[in-house]
Amino acid sequence: MQKFSALSLIRNTLGGHRGWQRQWRDPEPKAAYDAVIIGGGGHGLGAAYYLAKEHGLRNIAVLEKGWIGGGNTGRNTTIIRSNYLFDESAALYDHALKLWEGLTQELNYNVMFSQRGVLMLAHNVHDVQSFKRHVHANRLNGVDNEWLTAEEAKEFCPPLNISNNMRHPVLGAALQRRAGTARHDAVAWGYARAADALGVDIIQNCEVTGIRRNASGAVEAVETTRGLIRTTKIGVSAAGHTSMVLGMAGVRLPLESYPLQALVSEPVKPVFPCVVMSNTIHAYISQSDKGELVIGAGTDAYTSYTQRGGLHIATHTLDAICELFPMFRRMRMLRNWGGIVDVTPDRSPIIAKTSVPGLYVNCGWGTGGFKATPGAAHLLAYTIARDEPHTINAPFTIERFRDGFLIDEAAAAAVAH
Ligand SMILES: Cc1cc2nc3c(=O)[nH]c(=O)nc-3n(C[C@H](O)[C@H](O)[C@H](O)COP(=O)(O)OP(=O)(O)OC[C@H]3O[C@@H](n4cnc5c(N)ncnc54)[C@H](O)[C@@H]3O)c2cc1C
Repeated sequence: MQKFSALSLIRNTLGGHRGWQRQWRDPEPKAAYDAVIIGGGGHGLGAAYYLAKEHGLRNIAVLEKGWIGGGNTGRNTTIIRSNYLFDESAALYDHALKLWEGLTQELNYNVMFSQRGVLMLAHNVHDVQSFKRHVHANRLNGVDNEWLTAEEAKEFCPPLNISNNMRHPVLGAALQRRAGTARHDAVAWGYARAADALGVDIIQNCEVTGIRRNASGAVEAVETTRGLIRTTKIGVSAAGHTSMVLGMAGVRLPLESYPLQALVSEPVKPVFPCVVMSNTIHAYISQSDKGELVIGAGTDAYTSYTQRGGLHIATHTLDAICELFPMFRRMRMLRNWGGIVDVTPDRSPIIAKTSVPGLYVNCGWGTGGFKATPGAAHLLAYTIARDEPHTINAPFTIERFRDGFLIDEAAAAAVAH
């Protein structure tokens, strides 16, 4: 694999940039693989990479119905944090955050991970109590999180309006300094390039249309728009389309798929130093390196597979942004889009074996799985390779919805960006 470094940049500059190689191959699908990953988002590509790198499997394919990173990986607002309430969640998301901290070096690909800090605003007494509880719980789990007064929050984020004549005044904020953002498509491309270098076949424009099982019920092949592919291990990382893919093997999951949308403004000079989230009035904002304000809205109220959301959801979010940051009132919005997120009843993910031998699933990340990309990929690879979960993902089973061992981040935070 061609290495990126200051030296290679200088060498290629002097060579008129004609020496750069393709980042990954475009192979024809083989008749059989040791493992097949369905879904070429960050989670699926990452799982293939860790399977090859840490578990010695080399004959792996990632099957993507569109183009890699064209799903939620390329559509999200890239908030990364690990300050979740429950012990199981803190362990899971902090595992991912630790992997983020070394990911650019690991992949030799700049994923532009920026630990600029995430502020979560409190607007009422309930918010204050809930976020303070998060701060204490996080500290017990070794996860950084601190409480700021409204004045301290404004010092950290000067554009923030902390006046009292707002409908939802800012009473304080929780700050995770290690949290931040990354460049979404670079994550998909970085994993694709590194996985390809380890021999993984990344096959785009290849939709899985069926999953075949043998007489004993175990998986034996996938049917695709590019032919039948035999395999005894299938990992599904298909985000909003997971229930459809699992349905092909006869597995039902407690998932609902909703459109979630985001929008960006015209680009401006650097004005916004961190990420700010307000769960209560449902608005999230950061500034990309291109200068656009990146704004996240809420999910539509109805299940759907349309990759766009209702206009009233976006305008509600913009109302909140204008109240919190009056200096943005005259900004123009450049574009908006949606993605389909797969939501579980407790808003925590599933990374687990299924009842079908050889079929594994990583799903239910809902509105907040980008931050988990390296961790989810790492744990899915572990579960596929060993046919048993890692201790970190052991609580994130499908059976918890039957047995009642919920990890109820929905009740804890009401939102999971
Ligand atoms: C607007 C928006 C904002 C968000 N903001 C944040 C945020 O700020 N922070 C955060 O942590 N998370 C956020 N998320 C959630 C996050 O984007 C997802 O949880 C995460 O990207 C999921 O990654 P993935 O690789 O599993 O899914 P994806 O990137 O969606 O990959 C799944 C892939 O599976 C493919 N696929 C589906 N069916 C098939 C099939 N039959 N055959 C072959 N391929 C198939 C799809 O084409 C897709 O490319 C947001 C999501 C959206 C939509």
